[in-house]
Amino acid sequence: MNQRNNHRLILFPLPFQGHINPMLQLGRILYARGFSITILHTNFNAPDPSSHPHFTFRSIGDSFDRSEATPSDIPGLLLLLNTRCASPFEERLQEMMSSPGSDSVPVTCLISDSLFSFACDVAERLKVRALVLPAGGATSFYVYTILPVLKEKGYFTIDGSQSEEAVTEFPPLLVRDIPAIKLQKPEMALQLFDNMIRVIKSSAGVIFNTFEELEHPALTSVREVLLVPDFVIGPFHKCCMTSSSSSLLAEDRSCISWLDEQPIKSVIYVSFGSAVVLSESEILEIALGLADSEQPFLWVVRPRLVCDPEWLQKSPSHFLEALERRGKTVKWAPQMEVLAHPAVGAFWTHSGWNSTLESISEGVPMLCTPRFSDQGVNARYVSDVWRVGVHLNGGLKREYRKGEELRERASVLKEKASACLRPGGSSYRGLDGLVNHILRFHSENRSSVLEGSFNPL
Ligand code: UDP
Repeated sequence: MNQRNNHRLILFPLPFQGHINPMLQLGRILYARGFSITILHTNFNAPDPSSHPHFTFRSIGDSFDRSEATPSDIPGLLLLLNTRCASPFEERLQEMMSSPGSDSVPVTCLISDSLFSFACDVAERLKVRALVLPAGGATSFYVYTILPVLKEKGYFTIDGSQSEEAVTEFPPLLVRDIPAIKLQKPEMALQLFDNMIRVIKSSAGVIFNTFEELEHPALTSVREVLLVPDFVIGPFHKCCMTSSSSSLLAEDRSCISWLDEQPIKSVIYVSFGSAVVLSESEILEIALGLADSEQPFLWVVRPRLVCDPEWLQKSPSHFLEALERRGKTVKWAPQMEVLAHPAVGAFWTHSGWNSTLESISEGVPMLCTPRFSDQGVNARYVSDVWRVGVHLNGGLKREYRKGEELRERASVLKEKASACLRPGGSSYRGLDGLVNHILRFHSENRSSVLEGSFNPL
């Protein structure tokens, strides 16, 4: 574990919680395989180095300021981030290539988030091999690749945001599940996805945080589109079990002792990830749903979950008291530990990919209320394909009867998520393949330098 192999990997995460987590988990996995890890990060949402004492942290020294972007305009935010980070990233990477750190371990490869559209081009200019990590699953990734076809078929011209019409090209997707369908101007999002696919196609390989047994059909389709080496090695968080956290907000651990006092499988854990913003009426509906369920619940009400940050304080005191009697609210939870806790019986989620995979890995059935991006696809697969959750179109009670069947399916998938990581399992072999692939870069780099040529594949 502590034997280093004289290869440094530079990891460049997109500065949002759902992207930082898998990238830092990947860092821990590859550190355990002997690589030295440098996390190259933006000043904006910088990770906390003290939680990862084995890694080196370097900022690109960007001047990105989130307040310059409209909060609800995620594609605009990502495009601005790309504009602001490209030059500082290039300068910093160049600096790192010309002067290795104090331990003199040379850089073998860059692993960049797939939504940084400039990183692989920069790496190619600087003659560094680049791998790409998409933060989502393979199924939603495949849906991104067919968005131009769906647009051509006219799905984006109708008001699809609520449409229950089937997407005939990709069952069991409904029109309202299509990523970007809820945007008034989806062109910018389509441009981002298109850039992402182009970047991966020109890279030296793609790493997926999923497992073959979960997403085999989508992975097969993705392989036909991308035509680059792929490494399917998830669920990341289960191959690098550690107590260190990548949370940008402080985790409130009091919820663990509260869970310790609850009956087995009795608690509904409620969290909508790091980016979803709800209206006051939506959050009230959730609160009423929880009260109606008559189950204990643990609810993450993070700052900025509601448009009005004073919402919780302004709510009538009897409402808050009723909530507190049945459950507990925290600003941020140690989610992986919560989902692994025996008291947790269900997860009410926005269906972000990390949350979905974390829940599947612990065998916790889900109640899904997706909002945007890949969440609609994830939720549809959770309910209709993997059958480990229900899609909540109405109240919480409506589909409650399915509980037993869901729990059974969830425990089957939990076992598959665990088996793939054991020696001989699909993700275990995938990781071996990834390690060998990276180690080969070293000898290829050396021979290409000797021959004066460089081929990114
Ligand atoms: N998370 C957490 N504590 C919380 C809520 C979320 O640690 O209270 C973590 C969760 O475990 C997951 C990530 O934040 O790894 C959220 O990622 P996801 O892809 O589910 O959603 P996003 O935030 O990107 O919408």
